Parts: sequence; C-alpha cells; structure tokens
Amino acid sequence: RILDEHRRDPLRLVQILVRIQHDYGGCPPAVRDYIAKAVNVPQAQVHGVVEFYHFLSPERLGDYRIYLSDNITDRMLGNERIMAVLQQDLQVRRGQPRADGRVHLDYTSCTGLCDQGPALLVNGRPITRLTPALAGEIAERINAAEPLDAWPAHWFQVEESLRLAGPVLAARSEPGRALQAAFQQGPERLLKEIDRSGLRGRGGAGFRTALKWRVSRDAPGKAHYVVCNADEGEPGTFKDRTLLTRFADEVFEGMTLGAYVIGAEQGFLYLRAEYGWLYPHLVAVLARRRAEHLLGHQILGHDFNFDIDIHLGAGAYVAGEESALIESLEGQRAVPRTRPPYTATHGYLHQPTICNNVETFVKTTLIARNGADWFLASGTRHSPGTKLLSVSGDVARPGIYEYPFGVSVQTILDACGATDTQAVQVGGPSGTCITPLEFGRAISFEDLSTGGSFMVFNRSRDMLAVVQNFTHFFAGESCGFCTPCRVGTQLLRQSIDKIMAGHASARELADIAETASTIRSMSHCGLGQTCANPLLDTLQRMRPLYESRLTSLDFVPGFDLDGALAPARELSRRDDAAAHLGQRCDELGCI
Ligand code: SF4
Repeated sequence: RILDEHRRDPLRLVQILVRIQHDYGGCPPAVRDYIAKAVNVPQAQVHGVVEFYHFLSPERLGDYRIYLSDNITDRMLGNERIMAVLQQDLQVRRGQPRADGRVHLDYTSCTGLCDQGPALLVNGRPITRLTPALAGEIAERINAAEPLDAWPAHWFQVEESLRLAGPVLAARSEPGRALQAAFQQGPERLLKEIDRSGLRGRGGAGFRTALKWRVSRDAPGKAHYVVCNADEGEPGTFKDRTLLTRFADEVFEGMTLGAYVIGAEQGFLYLRAEYGWLYPHLVAVLARRRAEHLLGHQILGHDFNFDIDIHLGAGAYVAGEESALIESLEGQRAVPRTRPPYTATHGYLHQPTICNNVETFVKTTLIARNGADWFLASGTRHSPGTKLLSVSGDVARPGIYEYPFGVSVQTILDACGATDTQAVQVGGPSGTCITPLEFGRAISFEDLSTGGSFMVFNRSRDMLAVVQNFTHFFAGESCGFCTPCRVGTQLLRQSIDKIMAGHASARELADIAETASTIRSMSHCGLGQTCANPLLDTLQRMRPLYESRLTSLDFVPGFDLDGALAPARELSRRDDAAAHLGQRCDELGCI
C-alpha cells in the first residue's frame, strides 16, 4: 500500500522509508530488501539511506518511540531529570530497547521547541513543558499500552509564542492577492520589484533572492523546480514552526510566485522530520488552495500550472544545506554535492531549481502584494526588511520576535526580559557567541548574520557545558563524507570532554586551534566550516574559563592509565607500588 501510494518511485525512497518507520516502527532487513526490489534500486542504496538518517532505524524500535530534545536550552530547563524519570518509570535504558521490545527512548539534538522545553516527540508527536510529574504520567500511559489518541489532547498542543509582531507578522494577506498582483504586472516586472526590494535569503547566508531566481530562470533545462527549505535544524531556531502554522498560505504563495517567475510547474516543501506533526495541517492548506484555484491547472484562470508536494525529512542537520536537501528529495542520503555547479542551474534532477527558506518565501509574497517600498521602509541599506528571531534560554519571555535589521542585541535582550546576561549565541552553534561588551552590535548581514537562533545565557551558566553540547551536536551530525570534518569533529569533541573532565593541559588549547583551522579550511560544506565556532569564539572571549579547568601545564592523558590496569592487578593478585603507573608525563619519565 505504501509503495503504491508513492508510485514505487525511487525518487520517493526517503518518503517511503519515513512512512514505514512511522507505521511499523522500523525498517528491518527483509523490509529493506523488499523495498529495493519494488522500487528497483540497489539494496545498498536502501541500507545506506536507512543508516544515514537519525529517525530511520534498521530494526523495529517498538510501539512507543520517544525522543527527548537535548538542545542546550532543554538541558537548562532540566531535560536530564525528565530522562531519569522516563528511564526509571518505563524500565528502559536510553538507546536500548525495553525487554519487551515495545519502548524505545533516546535523546535527539533539537526538536524546534526551545521556547517551551523541555520537549519530546513520541511517535513524532510533540509534548512540551515537561515536568517530572508529567513524564511519570506519560510513562504510566505507555505502561498501560494506551494509544496516543487516548492521551489528553492538550498534551500535544504547541504554543505559537509570537511575542513581537513587526510589519511581516502583523500583515495577514488574503490568499491569492499577491498572485493576482503578480499576474497583473507579469513575471519580469515582479522579478524587478523583488530585486528592487533588496530581499536577501533569510536562511543566514543572505544571497540576493532576485539574482538567484534570475540565474535559475535563464538556465537551460527540461524543467524548472521550486524548493522550500523548511528543514530549519539549527539548534535554537523555531520561527519556521510558527510561520508554517500561521502563514502557510504565504509560504505556498511565495513558492507559486517563484514558479511564475522561473517557469516551474512542480515545487517541493522539504519539512524537517521534527515538524512532521505539521504535515496534516500543511496538506489541508494545499488542498484548500487547489480548490480555490491557487494551485494546480490554470491557476486563477491563467495559462500557468504549478503544484506543490511536501517531502518529510528523516532527521539530518546537514540536509539543511541546499544541495544535500536536493539529494534527499531525490531519495538519497543527504550528502552535500560538490559545487559548482550550483542548485540554481543544476538542482533537482540536475535541472534549474530555486531553493529558498520559509521566511524568504513569506517575504516574497508580501513584497508582491505590498511593493518593494513597503519592504524597504525597514532595515538597513545592506540588510533591508525585518528578521524573525527565535529567542530562547535565560529570558522571561521566550518566543518569536520580529525586528528590523539593524536592531541591537541589547534591545532584544531588554524586550525578552533577559537579566544578568553572560553571553548570547547568535545564529545557533554555527553562528557567533558574543559577550556583554558586544551587546551594542547589530543583527544584520553586515554585522551579526543569523538564520534566526538567539540563545541567551545568564551568569549562572557554565559556558563550557554550552560549548560541549554544541561540539557533541556537530560530531553527531557530520555526514562523514570528508575526512577533515568526520575526524575533526570527533577530535574537537574529545578535546572539550577532556577539558570538562579536568584532564586537559595547555597543549589541548593549542591543539584545538590547529584542528579547527584544518577543519575550517578543508571541509566540503558549511557544517565542517563552522563546527569549531563555539570553541573558537569562547576561547577568544572567555579564555580564563578554559584555563581554570586545566590541571597541569604538562600533557595529561585523557583517561586513567592506572585504573585501566586494575583488572590485571586483580588477576595477578598484585597491588605493590611497581604494579601501579604514574599519570603525569614527568612521573612516567617522558619529560
Ligand atoms: Fe559531510 Fe562534514 Fe564534509 Fe559537510 S563538511 S560534507 S557534513 S563530512
């Protein structure tokens, strides 16, 4: 049935596997082999895809699959206590199946619910604001084998957390109005208007949207495609969750405008796995738009056909990189492509493709409706318009804030009720960590660029624990394609673990800088190029924090040499001085 729903299309392999995972709890070997034959792809491809994505599993994980969010903000809100309660009450160990095989419990990096954590996903459905008592109730219902549909409905409600609406969030547009305006002016004038607005991609890189669309439109190809990147996986970012909930029409209309400009008939919205619970809502909006002739054949009576398909991700941070996302759309592992050629000319099926972020498409819709001057009325010369920020961490009012570009960090801190702030991580782990001396800096492409994540840490926080969380995140998300990133992220993880365990020497800090420089310059994609940012930023701004953890100026091993010999001593029944090793190099005679 699932295979037939997806027309046994190998391009939909990830979709088929996501569905099987959802319905049956896993993709065991016999199922994978059957799928390989049915869609006519090598078995190795199916195995490779299942092994690649976090939310696909090579074995069945049970009836209840629980992923507890482990972003640093969830840690700060006590997710470790929640994990302890769940493990205890469910009689299951993290990452291992319960004895009866019915329950699986593990951490996942970030569920896009940092404004209302600690949060978890159970069979893909979110539960926020967890407390130990609520975790106990969840365990009780699971132990009683109660189906999720019988659980209290309010447990699954997610707040929108809209705290400050600027011109974009306050502007509701009637579905179809931007399209009507576009049809009146024609695709070339619409493109010129978007160009005049100076709109830059809101994913963080800030590429000019009109330029991307023009390059794609002018590129030769059998077909052109539109892709919406709704895979916001940067820890601490959740603004797209609200946009997709409240502004889905604007997102789809922006995609339709893009199709009108470049001449596409097919679009895809790639939805991150953690937002899978939004899928039914988005499908319903698409169906309504088709009924209103805003999608499909001869849109609003014009000679223009376009439709949108929603693809679900399966859990891979690197899929947010646009060429990796295209690979995933084609049923492959989300490994970034070698570029050039770029997606604009060689994207989906190697055809011209525009790939833009959710927020960028919303803004395109509003520019088409309200004009470039409306958009240019806010922001700075090089960063026109506004930016949506996902504010979380040590603040009184976490949530979504819309500010004109150029706003200072201090203004945002004042608005969200942050006090005694020690540091702000702007742009997520791959972004920039700043300290109070820099709170006058501006959110903009020319100063602090961000895809939207804005995490606040007060002075009670151990910033090295923050760095450790981010460094573990990158080590877990490296796709393994290139050696500097695959090995380097593990080396950085080991270094920060060693520092936290009190085994590091000054040499460790020098090694971090050297490893970071190699990864940054030799890695294939942005993950490798930015994965050392948390370590480097804090080493530069908070070096005494590191130095206070160093135990010796000499090399200190990262593990207990003498302790490792304990079983041998026990076997040989020796415990004299000669049966023990010193730990330090000077004791060992190395120096
Ligand atoms: Fe994969 Fe890292 Fe290389 Fe990017 S830099 S392709 S994530 S291994």
